[in-house]
Amino acid sequence: SAMRDSRIKRTKTVCTYCGVGCSFEVWTKGRKILKIEPQHEAPVNQISTCVKGKFGWDFINSEERLTKPLIRKGDKFVEATWDEALDLIHEKLGGIKDTYGPDSIGYIASSKCSNEENFIFQKFARAVMGTNNIDNCSRYCQSPATSGLMRTVGIGGDAGTVKDIANAGLVIVIGANPAESHPVLATRIKRAHKLRGQKLMVIDLRKHELGERADLFIRPKPGTDLVWLSAVTKYILDQGWHDEKFILARVNGFEQYVASLEKFTLDYAVEKTGMTREQLIQIATMIHEADGVCILWAMGVTQHSMGTDTSTAIANLLLVTGNFGRPNAGAYPLRGHNNVQGACDFGTMPAWMPGYESVEDEKVRAKYEKAWGVTLSPKPGLNNHQMIEGVTNGKLKALYLFGEEMSLVDSNSNHVESVFEKLDFFVVQDIFFSRTARYADVVLPAAPSLEKEGTFTNTERRIQRFYQALKPLGDSKPDWQIIQLVANRFGANWKYEHPSDIMAEAATLANIFAGVSYERLVDWNSLVWPVEADGTDTPLLYTERFAFPDGRARLYPLEEHEPMFKPNEEYDLHLNNGRLLEHFHEGNMTYRSQGITHKVPREWLEVSPELARERGIESGALVRLTSPYGHVKVRVQVTDTVRGKELYLTMNSRDAESAINRLTSSYHDKVTHTPNYKEMSVKMEILEKN
Ligand code: SF4
Repeated sequence: SAMRDSRIKRTKTVCTYCGVGCSFEVWTKGRKILKIEPQHEAPVNQISTCVKGKFGWDFINSEERLTKPLIRKGDKFVEATWDEALDLIHEKLGGIKDTYGPDSIGYIASSKCSNEENFIFQKFARAVMGTNNIDNCSRYCQSPATSGLMRTVGIGGDAGTVKDIANAGLVIVIGANPAESHPVLATRIKRAHKLRGQKLMVIDLRKHELGERADLFIRPKPGTDLVWLSAVTKYILDQGWHDEKFILARVNGFEQYVASLEKFTLDYAVEKTGMTREQLIQIATMIHEADGVCILWAMGVTQHSMGTDTSTAIANLLLVTGNFGRPNAGAYPLRGHNNVQGACDFGTMPAWMPGYESVEDEKVRAKYEKAWGVTLSPKPGLNNHQMIEGVTNGKLKALYLFGEEMSLVDSNSNHVESVFEKLDFFVVQDIFFSRTARYADVVLPAAPSLEKEGTFTNTERRIQRFYQALKPLGDSKPDWQIIQLVANRFGANWKYEHPSDIMAEAATLANIFAGVSYERLVDWNSLVWPVEADGTDTPLLYTERFAFPDGRARLYPLEEHEPMFKPNEEYDLHLNNGRLLEHFHEGNMTYRSQGITHKVPREWLEVSPELARERGIESGALVRLTSPYGHVKVRVQVTDTVRGKELYLTMNSRDAESAINRLTSSYHDKVTHTPNYKEMSVKMEILEKN
């Protein structure tokens, strides 16, 4: 009617924050965001959202948005036209490629950007620039989980969906804090626990919200998850509680695996982990008695020097107990970013083409070479950790990075920033002038999700479309358009008119996306990969086969290693870290959202009551933490969520000088090179007592 304001636009979007993948309508009037309205049709969240999805959108209209390309002139940046910026990139990157070869340039993709943007970025790196030196931030988080699952069941993704988690008999959460990191998923668990009597077990250093609610909550000693997982599995086998039928029919390597567990007796686990015998037996018993076990894990498992092996131990335990290939069971590594799953799926990884097909496989390359009319490098590229090393040893000369605050999120950030200074040429593409952008030679202004179309893939492997609510601000452009402009400067002659063209191409090339199309994803529709050509999707994996040629899963024997860092006389405290509900990572978006920043203005350090008493400090005290790699100044919160000499620093720092990664090291998981962010020892000096 005439009384209704027809200028209000309602647009379906997908949350730009975490991997749960909530979708909702955003109501806009001009550039003003009026509200976020969840809808029953939303496949993951229905009418739920969390504080970030609901209030975390002010950054869109921040005065700090980049609206023009910038070019470095000495110590300053000056505004430039798109032509000037693109010419410079062509000249410099082209020159470096000609002089030092294609492998002298590295490409860092974005888990905040769409599947289509990640797809054409890897195509640019591989087909246009001739290298597999491409990676994304899953190297900092979930690569160990992916590798652990690839070893055992063959697919690096969640076994089922949020519905399976909600319907499981027992949910085990290890090294993850869903109430803050994956809030809407946590509400599903809380509801099932309260209303349906679902059993909940939490194993974590920190007694977080789900830990408080759990039927069984245990704090092991830091870095000992592999030991208790192996001991519990051995105990289950010794009791004859394993699923013999399932193992016979569907799993290889049983004998060897059982032999490898010999050392992991309960006594050994008690000594190593600090858990009691009774606790270990209780874990095994709850698993044995449950109808359907889902194990959820995140950075508390993966960001260790044993991250891949511990993830493998989780998969082993689930295989032995027959908790794969049926509803309400399986492995659920919780994806961090809204599209970290998609960035990996669509091939921004150094050893994998889209859909996890190896770059070393001649047949795979031949398929792409034919489609793209190029010759592809058969050599796996550098991951982002190796790229930093590559700059140090002079092999890598340039980087092109988009939508990634690498200078704060990579570990040992003082070192990373010093490495950026050594680059001959650095392209940074972002929506803000990030900390990383300070080291750039060219900065390209990109558009966030509300200003473009595309698809994101959530932690369940679910692909969902988001639509354009607003025009790109100023001269900023969607990342896929920018990448296409850059590629065409190098003679690519791409003619993508819409992200759907890019998805159509990915669907013809990567088997797991065969039936994915924008038509099938219209509005609230979604598809969970693998998707067959006829559009049949796969919410539950492994019902008939595991993803290996013989269709059988593989039990994987493991060896235990000591953590890289243990407290010693000088660095006497263990430092853990993690997310806050309100903020997201380095806070480039959430600190620019008023409601959120008002509520939680900065990071803090959790100190146990015992330690606070010993050092004579109270909440509000100002302390300096020092590691061998750097130091930070932070305010203390005394709380029994942590115990003894274990500290916890929220990782979302507004002030780059208090960022957790000033303290972390360059040590990493051996298999994936994921930094061991969670293995850190520090000393604490008191600057103000309260
Ligand atoms: Fe967004 Fe995750 Fe919150 Fe959902 S739970 S609204 S996806 S941040």
